[in-house]
Amino acid sequence: MERGLRHVLNRFPDYEQGLKQGETLAGLQSHIRSILQNKAALYSQRNPPSNSLEISSVLDDSRPDFKLYTGCGGNIVVYKALNSLQANSNESVVSAQVATALKAALRLVANIGSRVASFYTGGAGIYALAVELDRENWLQHVQSLAGEWTPAKNEDNEVLFGKAGYLYCLLYVNKHHPEAGLQLRGLIEEVAEALFEAGFGEDRTKLTYLWRGKDYLGAAHGTIGILQMLLLALKEGEGWLFAGENTLNDYKEALQRTIDYVCDLQFPSGNFPSHVRDAGNPERDKLVHFCHGAPGAILTLCTAYEYFHNPRFLATATRAGDMMWEKGLLKKGNGLCHGIAGSGYAFLALFRVTGAEKWLWRALKFGEAIDTAFVQDEVTRWSDPQRRVVGVPDSPYSLMEGLGGTLCFLVDVLQPEKARFPGFEL
Ligand SMILES: [Zn+2]
Repeated sequence: MERGLRHVLNRFPDYEQGLKQGETLAGLQSHIRSILQNKAALYSQRNPPSNSLEISSVLDDSRPDFKLYTGCGGNIVVYKALNSLQANSNESVVSAQVATALKAALRLVANIGSRVASFYTGGAGIYALAVELDRENWLQHVQSLAGEWTPAKNEDNEVLFGKAGYLYCLLYVNKHHPEAGLQLRGLIEEVAEALFEAGFGEDRTKLTYLWRGKDYLGAAHGTIGILQMLLLALKEGEGWLFAGENTLNDYKEALQRTIDYVCDLQFPSGNFPSHVRDAGNPERDKLVHFCHGAPGAILTLCTAYEYFHNPRFLATATRAGDMMWEKGLLKKGNGLCHGIAGSGYAFLALFRVTGAEKWLWRALKFGEAIDTAFVQDEVTRWSDPQRRVVGVPDSPYSLMEGLGGTLCFLVDVLQPEKARFPGFEL
């Protein structure tokens, strides 16, 4: 059954028009600051850093859950983001809130155990953050992180449950704790190689991945997410990753060719299909989500443009960004994975790459949308068969579905030069 539009019609003025009406970027930023203050107060009150539950189920039946996606691991990222905005914040000092959140998550990983190795859904994500934040015991956390690389836990390739999500953990450590990163170089190379090899067909020209037998394209389960992690690996590993090996050029060429192929799959609207087989069928042009659709594709295309300087990658991302200004105010809500904050991060990536204020304007307006009646009225009424309560994510405070990720976006839109989509950009 067709349920009508999945997005709210965007009634905000775009950049040029807004400026003519007397609005300014600085004015928008101060508005966002006050939205953030209110929402952050609500978050801290309802979801203290010591919380170790799925955060927090709409039906009040929360279970212990350490995952960054739906569980208390998200608290570490959110409180870290909130602290970064405070006056006199010193990033080398870990706040008591962040330390408490980290302890709660580490305790749960030890108690429950983790079945997959990835950032969003495995213990590996918690260990990667622990290496960065628990400086006294970082060596022990590096060992725990490395111990997560097992055939049983790394069967899949994708970001949410697979090798690409584990590779992100290793690269995150390499970026934020270079000494620990040195110890992980061998493992980074092993995982990146396994991902490349898993994607090659017999002719070794292009990378193809399936998840549970299906040709997912999007950032969470599909090719776009895997390509992003391979790009980040080559970028972070410049000078040492696959150094002196003939395969490095094969890998780079295949990566560039595959991203070029992803550009071919773009719908006329500017969006991307959820599955490769849906390309060319406008009837399947439905989801504009980070997990399935343009926002995730834009993040990867921007990284690809920064690495390869191929103008087609930026032109494709820009086209997708223009479509998202129309269709990115999602009725599904304000979260990262399939919500307005996720769309907003794509604008921030375009701003980082182009420096054009139009993209920052659009990101700020999507921040404003989080507290704007014409958008939120429709969000709270949106009936989603996948949810237990109308208009509310099942884990309303979580990082990827709930308020947690929305707060990270509001923080990042105020310091766009530092903005990075949690778990997907570095
Ligand atoms: Zn999603």
